Parts: sequence; structure tokens; C-alpha cells
Amino acid sequence: MDYPAKIARHVAAIPRSGIRDFFELVQGREGIISLGVGEPDFVTPWHIREAAIYSLEKGQTTYTSNLGLLSLRKSIARYVGEFFGVAYDPAREVLVTVGVSEAIDLALRALLNPGDEVIFHEPCYVSYSPSIVLAHGRAVAVETSKADAFALKPENLAAAITPQARVLMLNFPTNPTGAVTSQEDLEGIAKLAIEHDLIVLTDEIYSELRYDGLPHVSIASLPGMRERTVLLHGFSKAFAMTGFRLGYACAPQPIIEAMMKIHQYSMLCAPIMSQNAALEALENGTPAMLAMRESYHQRRDFVVTRLNEIGLDCHTPGGAFYVFPDIRKTGLTSKDFAMGLLEKEAVAAVPGSAFGPSGEGFLRCCYATAFNDLRTAMDKIERFAQAL
Ligand code: PLP
Repeated sequence: MDYPAKIARHVAAIPRSGIRDFFELVQGREGIISLGVGEPDFVTPWHIREAAIYSLEKGQTTYTSNLGLLSLRKSIARYVGEFFGVAYDPAREVLVTVGVSEAIDLALRALLNPGDEVIFHEPCYVSYSPSIVLAHGRAVAVETSKADAFALKPENLAAAITPQARVLMLNFPTNPTGAVTSQEDLEGIAKLAIEHDLIVLTDEIYSELRYDGLPHVSIASLPGMRERTVLLHGFSKAFAMTGFRLGYACAPQPIIEAMMKIHQYSMLCAPIMSQNAALEALENGTPAMLAMRESYHQRRDFVVTRLNEIGLDCHTPGGAFYVFPDIRKTGLTSKDFAMGLLEKEAVAAVPGSAFGPSGEGFLRCCYATAFNDLRTAMDKIERFAQAL
């Protein structure tokens, strides 16, 4: 059988995730300190796990409404109203999904006609460009730079907008750079979205993990933006619930309805045990979430200080749990640096090039790792960099 010829051309054309490739090398090897996978090192708070256990115990093991449990949607609408300052109708404007991952896929498939352009800022989360291609769209990356602390500048966005542009994807705080935007830039971006009639898909999965006492501002809350924004959020990061696979989308009803049609035929609904756990997270999980944030904040400060001491120039990220040091001084490509660090010092970090061409020359280190391991990892990075 000629299997390659049997695979859909647009699927064959997308590359495997650079992160996965790298971590297959790491798997099964002993004694490695991983700054690789973007996952909290905390176990999900106990009361949230307990809610999933109660769901099983009470025999709540059925399908739910395609949109998700109404009790959860009400809780999401309350939380989003308080945290993001945007009101959504839980009956018609909230869709519970299998992680933000599913929500991204649904939104793109619901909004794009073949050939439509989707603009996004890069370096970015590995799934964006492939998800656009899988939805038959055209991925248009706008490079961000270290000089701007990897924030998206309205003038750079403006230069990328063509008549074919239909959707703008945003992710603040950003994976892999931890970038955030200023209110002024966000307003400039919103103005462009309105001028060019773009729908904004905003992935705010790291929104609670904003540091230095500064508030997170969602583009959905700016004047004129609610009607053209699909706000995506989930439980994986701030509530340490990656394995529960739960996220949600909030948007005007016609968009949620279109996303729901795809969701009902492809996924039916998100798992009820996870939905019950998510409800508990929203209702009673804020103190635990804030304690985790405080811990990430301390680790961010430590890692940024150490990397700059080592001579690997590192901006201070305003959010998420990643640092993105500049390794260009070493003369190595990001892949060679990451491979060398793994081979010589048994520390795993992800080459910046995995997040798009503009990530070349940088390394993504996830600092959601035990403090002792971070300390050792920084010493090892120092030894590796000095030996170069
Ligand atoms: N969006 C961003 C920016 C991410 O970094 C991730 C995971 O790393 C996801 C979405 C996927 O999240 P979920 O676990 O909710 O599918």
C-alpha cells in the first residue's frame, strides 16, 4: 500500500511539532531536569480532584448538553464577567470544550473559508499555524522581536493585513515568550481589527498568570470588541488541570452556534467529571490558584536574574511560566544549543525555532519546575555556556 499517497495532502504537508520531536529524544532517559513541557509542576488542588471523584461516586458519568453543564456555563459567565469585565449569556454564548486546543480548532473551522488569511504573532504556540492549515486557511505570521519584549506592535500588524485577512489570533500572555501587551498597543490592535472587519480569536489561557501586581486586560473588554471577539480560556495552566482537558469559548451567539455544530458532531461534549471539577475550580479554586501564581512569580524572578548573570540576555516576561533567553552570543543555533545542553548537562529546554522562524536564536525554558531543580539547571546552563 502506498500509504503516503493515501494521506490527505494538507495533512501530509504540516510538520510534526518541534516540541514533540525534541521530547522523544528525552523520553526514557534518567536524571534529566526538564524545563521543557509547558505544564504546571503542581498537582491539581485536592478539592478540585475531589469534585471529579464525587462526580464518579454519584454516578454522574453521562453525556452533558453539547454546550456543557449549564451550572458550569453560569459559573464561567460569572468568572469571565468578574475577571475579564465582559458579560456573556451562559445559555447561548458559552461553549465548554475539550481544552483550549479544541476551542482553537472549532473557532478556526467555524470562521474560515478556504484560502482566508489568519494573522498571528510569532514566536507562538506550536499549534496555531498547523490548526489554520487544517482549517484550510492561510497562516500569516507577524514577527515580534526581543527589542519589543515580543509584544505585537500595531504598526507591524497593520503591514500584514490584506483584503483576504479574516481572523486575527492573539495570545497574551504569550507562549513561548511570556509577552504581554500595553493597553495602548491593545487599543491600537483593536482599532485595526475594527477598521479591517477582522474577527479576533484571543487565547487567554495564561491570563491569571500575570505578574508584578499588574492586571490582565482582555481585548474583548475594549469598546466595540465584544461583538467581534472569540475569547478562549481554560483550566490547564492557572488551575493545574492539564489532564482534565477542559476549556471554553465565549463569543456572540451566532459564532458559538457555529462552533457548537462542529463540536456536537466531532466531540459531542466535554467529559462530565472534568466539567464538575472545573465548576469547583471556578467557585472555590481562586486561593489555591493565587498561591501557585505567587510561586511562579518567585521562580520567574530567580530564573531571569540567573540567566542574565550567566550572560544569556533575558527580558523579564510579564506573564505565563516561560522565559525566552537570547542565546545568539554563543554562535549556536537554538537546536544545537538545546541538543548540546541535553547531551552535556542533561537539561532539557525547547529550541526557540520550534515556535516559528522568529524564535531562532532563543531557548524556551519553562520554570514551572521545582526550585531546587531550577537552581541546579541554571548552574548547569552556566557551565555549558561558559564552556562554549
Ligand atoms: N494555548 C496555548 C497558548 C498553550 O500554551 C496551550 C498549551 O500549552 C494551549 C493553548 C492548550 O491548552 P489546553 O490544555 O487547554 O488544550
